[in-house]
Amino acid sequence: MGRVVCEHVEKRFGDVVAVNDFNLEIKDNEFVVIVGPSGCGKSTSLRMIAGLEQHTSGNIYIADQLVNELPPRDRNVAMVFQNYALYPHMNVYDNMAFALKLRNVSRDEIDRKVKEAAEILSITQYLHRKPKELSGGQRQRVALGRAIVREPEVFLMDEPLSNLDAKLRVQMRTEIAKLHNRIGVTTIYVTHDQVEAMTMADRIVVMKDGLIQQIADPQTLYDSPANRFVAGFIGTPPMNFMNCQVQKHPDGFHMVNDSMDVVAPQEWADKVAAFEGQQMVLGVRPENILPGDAATDKVRAIVEVVEPLGSETLINISVNGQPAIIKVAPEYRPQVGDAIALRFDMVKAHAFHPETGLTIV
Ligand code: ATP
Repeated sequence: MGRVVCEHVEKRFGDVVAVNDFNLEIKDNEFVVIVGPSGCGKSTSLRMIAGLEQHTSGNIYIADQLVNELPPRDRNVAMVFQNYALYPHMNVYDNMAFALKLRNVSRDEIDRKVKEAAEILSITQYLHRKPKELSGGQRQRVALGRAIVREPEVFLMDEPLSNLDAKLRVQMRTEIAKLHNRIGVTTIYVTHDQVEAMTMADRIVVMKDGLIQQIADPQTLYDSPANRFVAGFIGTPPMNFMNCQVQKHPDGFHMVNDSMDVVAPQEWADKVAAFEGQQMVLGVRPENILPGDAATDKVRAIVEVVEPLGSETLINISVNGQPAIIKVAPEYRPQVGDAIALRFDMVKAHAFHPETGLTIV
């Protein structure tokens, strides 16, 4: 069974700790995406599981076997890379058959497996072409096909779609998800693209500076981020952050700065009480900021850029000198330079510690 377990895995390159105390348990058939900004250690984590990079300490198990000392070919994983890594002199059929030939699989079985994979990936008509005679998307399908025919316990994919144009990327994203539903092999997929992570993953691992920040299913990450980094990384446009002071008033705790005065929900009271008189960071997603009524809503903003997208409009604003973005219905059309009143849907807002960035609510 394609279970993958990483226990306290660490990777150092000299003085650089590329991956620090990486702990992850992946269930059989699960699709896990590792996401994070450039240099956060996601490729290194994947390459350690593949055996392409020797980890410095910790344990890695694949299919319940400790693989710390096993070379890549004995780990029963198949890796798909961004640059396809196809053999240019071989046609598609031979590219897909190559690993099986090395394993002395019979001709008939190779033929059956290659044709079956080609069928799944809709590349049957290209089996006799060389990689250079294919488009980027077709090449990436061949790379996937080469992984499929090996029937590994685990697929490891490192930014497999990043060489494709935006439209093809969206299409291949759906195809990989469908492929996973159909053949159900444990998959670990690395990307810096949070939309890819959100749309494909059963669970997402968010990394920053070599450290796992949070592991959760996409909706939980979105609704309950563990810290300000995750909150800002997951979601487009990203969550808005506003520095404010916590004040106690007769009707509850308020979050206040020179341009806003909003009332925290009752449920926040226990958690924000300790911050009375102190700074806190309020986080509100663009879709949870609504056009307000100047008489009753005490958030003021200046409109800086209006971006109509047809179905919705994004408006870049500044609140107390801090930039923010709101997502509103297209009927709402303020002009650049306008001072507008806004309302926050506080039930969906978050509060973060001003120094540690940890989620308070
Ligand atoms: P990207 O999205 O840019 O590929 P990443 O999240 O995959 O980034 P890694 O490639 O895993 O990041 O790199 C993690 C850290 O380890 C980085 O700081 C990188 O500079 C460092 N690193 C990676 N490989 C080596 C190496 N061979 N020697 C020294 N440092 C390395």
